Amino acid sequence: MEWDDRLTAAVAAREGELVALTQDLIRIPTLNPPGRNYREICELLAARLEARGFTVELVRAHGAPADSDRYPRWNMVARREGARPGDCVHFNGHHDVVETGHGWTVDPFGGELRDGRVYGRGACDMKGGIAASVIAAEAFLDTCPDFAGALEISATADEESGGYGGVAYLAEQGYFDPARVQHVIIPEPLNKDRICLGHRGVWWAEIETKGRIAHGSMPFLGECAVRHMGAVLAEMEATLFPLLASKHTEMPVVPEGARQSTLNINAIHGGEPEQEEGYTGLPAPCVPDRCRITIDRRYLIEEDPAEVKAEVSALMERVKAQRPGFSYEIRELFEVRPTMTDREAPVVTTVAAAIERVLARKADFVVSPGTYDQKHIDRIGRLKNCIAYGPGILDLAHQPDEWVGVQDMRDSATVMALTLADLLAPGQGRG
Ligand SMILES: [Zn+2]
Repeated sequence: MEWDDRLTAAVAAREGELVALTQDLIRIPTLNPPGRNYREICELLAARLEARGFTVELVRAHGAPADSDRYPRWNMVARREGARPGDCVHFNGHHDVVETGHGWTVDPFGGELRDGRVYGRGACDMKGGIAASVIAAEAFLDTCPDFAGALEISATADEESGGYGGVAYLAEQGYFDPARVQHVIIPEPLNKDRICLGHRGVWWAEIETKGRIAHGSMPFLGECAVRHMGAVLAEMEATLFPLLASKHTEMPVVPEGARQSTLNINAIHGGEPEQEEGYTGLPAPCVPDRCRITIDRRYLIEEDPAEVKAEVSALMERVKAQRPGFSYEIRELFEVRPTMTDREAPVVTTVAAAIERVLARKADFVVSPGTYDQKHIDRIGRLKNCIAYGPGILDLAHQPDEWVGVQDMRDSATVMALTLADLLAPGQGRG
């Protein structure tokens, strides 16, 4: 395994650079919303990769949601061709981060290094992962310049707000066409010994019950939309939640509570709008004529999306049959199909073997309860050979004092470098 040793040493020699790059990325506050400094972070990565022989494109997602001249949605795609034709391995990381929120004890954009951890918003989700993939690529290129195929690295916008100005846009432009890219690794913070194969499906909808406004002292003259919604919620408790809890999946979703169908009621609004803070008057007596809830249904690969929606419409029809004067509307807001890469797919088996060699333990296979950019690569790009694998602990994402461990970044960068060697230089260097 002479090759493994050389790549491991090449990554270890770059530990300082790995930390410095992570810090540089954190110090560019790419907050989303609204989408700040996307151009700056793309230029930083572009300059670095151009100096190492990559051909770099900066792609603005013109016309994508939230794209504007003030907050343009910039993406970076870098490609380095090998000596001969072969497969292309693509690392995709999102460069946007969520708001900082309260409770920080360090500067969220300071990139502080302390006790083997780099702190900051985006440290684990996922600037540490981007840095690990860049260092893995550089270690691989220096160790194995005579490789076949191609190596791509992209840094993309807006994952935190759906990915439409990022991976979805690039996929629509053909960047993830299976003829161009054969293996995709997304270094989201799933931990250095876990391979994430995909995610559950999503269906968001708004349900509105309708009533008729009247004076609150004579509610019998109106129709109370909130009472109608109360009946909908009671029916959900009686029939829908037990049904969802009974649906289990073969997908290895973590945490285990998400290994079944779930439904969250994200919001409820009915009647008079809430008054502004500081308003000292009383509310007015009115029968509410509208009540709305937003539902967030997460479904399993074994479920038919049409069935998922039919369950809700059947429930509404049951309530309607029991309640005179009941009428409603369902508006669909957002939908993502579940996806799960085959365990025997080449990128899965290759990364699993590299994890075993680097960490001396078997890889765990997991599925994410929520979605990430793999959805666009799968559905728009039609590319199935895609996983999430990267350093960091998922629970720390979006939290105050977010951090990524230096040793974790180094280990996962080593796994990525070995993966590149196995996919782009098979058979070389094995003694
Ligand atoms: Zn992320």
